[in-house]
Amino acid sequence: MKLREVKVDGETAAAIRKGQPILPKDAVADPEMLGREGSLLKLIDPAGRYVATGYHGSQNKGAGWVLATKEGEQIDEAFFSRKIRDAIARRESFYEDPETNAFRVFNGEGDGIGGLTIDDYDGHFLINWYSEGIYAMRRYVHDALADLKAVRSVFGKKRFDSRGQYVEDDDFVFGDKPDFPILVKENGMQFAVDLNDGAMTGIFLDQRDVRKAVRDEWAKGRRTLNAFSYTGAFSVAAALGGAAGTTSVDLAKRSLPKTIEQFSANGIDYEAQDIVVMDVFDYFRYAKRHEKEFDLLILDPPSFARSKKRTFSAAKDYPKLLEDALSVTAKDGIIIASTNHAGFGMKKFRGFIEKAFKSAGRKYTIEREFRLPADFRTHRHHMESDYLKVAVIRTKG
Ligand code: SAH
Repeated sequence: MKLREVKVDGETAAAIRKGQPILPKDAVADPEMLGREGSLLKLIDPAGRYVATGYHGSQNKGAGWVLATKEGEQIDEAFFSRKIRDAIARRESFYEDPETNAFRVFNGEGDGIGGLTIDDYDGHFLINWYSEGIYAMRRYVHDALADLKAVRSVFGKKRFDSRGQYVEDDDFVFGDKPDFPILVKENGMQFAVDLNDGAMTGIFLDQRDVRKAVRDEWAKGRRTLNAFSYTGAFSVAAALGGAAGTTSVDLAKRSLPKTIEQFSANGIDYEAQDIVVMDVFDYFRYAKRHEKEFDLLILDPPSFARSKKRTFSAAKDYPKLLEDALSVTAKDGIIIASTNHAGFGMKKFRGFIEKAFKSAGRKYTIEREFRLPADFRTHRHHMESDYLKVAVIRTKG
C-alpha cells in the first residue's frame, strides 16, 4: 500500500492525536500535497513524526478523514470489511427487533470511516458517498457488502458535487433488484420506500424515535398539522396514534401521491385525511383566516429551501416559523419542533423557541428533547454530525 506523506500543522496533529477524525481543509500548507481524491495519506506532524493514516476526500467539512492511528495498519478490503462488520454487530438490537427492519448500519466517522453511510432497508442496502475520495474506494465497500448474508441488493447515492448535493444517476449497484416501492417496517408501522428515485427514499430514518413518540404519546385525540410533511410519515404515525384528523402540508407536488401511498400502506383511509400541496407559510395564513386550530403541530423543515416566493433558512427563520405556527396552535397544544441544521446546537435552538414564544406573548414548557437515534452513531470528537434537534413543546394558554 502506497501512502502519501502529508505534513499537517501542529494544532491539527495535536487534535488528531486527541481523537479528532476529520482532516480540516487548512491543515495542510499546500493542498496539492493531498494528491488525487481517494489517495491514502500518512499524516505527519511538523517534526516528521507519524500522526495518523487517512484518505483525501473533499467534503464541505474538510479535506479528508482519519482511518487509523496505528502506524502500519493496512487500509484495504479487510479493513473496510472489519469496520462494516463491527458496525453491523453494534446494531444487533435492531436486527433482533421484529417490528423494525429499516435502520442505519454504518454512520460515517461514528463507525470509523468518515464520508460514508449505509442504511439497511429490509436487506436492500443504500450507500451514501459524500466525496469523490471515498467513492474511489467503492470496490472495498461493495466487496465487503457482497460477502454479507443480510444483503439482498445494494444501491449507492453520490452526494459529492460541490455542495454535497445528490448527483442524479441510476443508483443500482448489484444484487436482487426489488420492484419499488418496497414496504419496510418501523415499530410496527409500514413505509413505502424507493431506493432508486432521486436523492431521497421516502422516509427519514433518523426520525424513528420521534414518529414512535407521536403515535404512542402525543397524537391521541389531537387535531394534527404536519408541516413540511414530505411523504407524510409523521401523519401516518399520528393517524395510527388516534389523532382527531391529520393535515399534511408540503410544497412539492409529489408529496400528494406519496402521502396517499404511505397512508394506504398502513390501511388508513387517506380520503379522511387532509393533504395540502402548499407553501407552509401561506398555509398558516390560510388556516388563520379560516379559524382553523391544531392541538399537535409537527414542524420539520429542511435546513435551507428556496421556492419561487421565498427562501427559508432554519438558522435565520426558525423563530418566525414557530411564531406563525403559534397563530394556529390551540391552548394546551403540543408543538414538535425539529431541525437538522448542523450549524447550530440545542442551546441556540432553545433560544429560537424562547424568542418565538416571547414575541407571540405565550408561555410554554419543553416536555422532551430528542437527538439522533442510536443507529446514527456519532463520534465523540466530531459532534458537528450530531445534527438532529427535536423539542416537544407544550403551549400554556
Ligand atoms: N418532515 C418530513 C421531512 C421533511 S423534508 C418527514 O419526516 O418525512 C422537507 C420537505 O419540506 C420537502 O418535502 C420539501 O418539499 C418541503 N418544503 C420546503 N420548503 C417548503 C415550504 N416553504 N412549504 C412547504 N413545504 C416545503
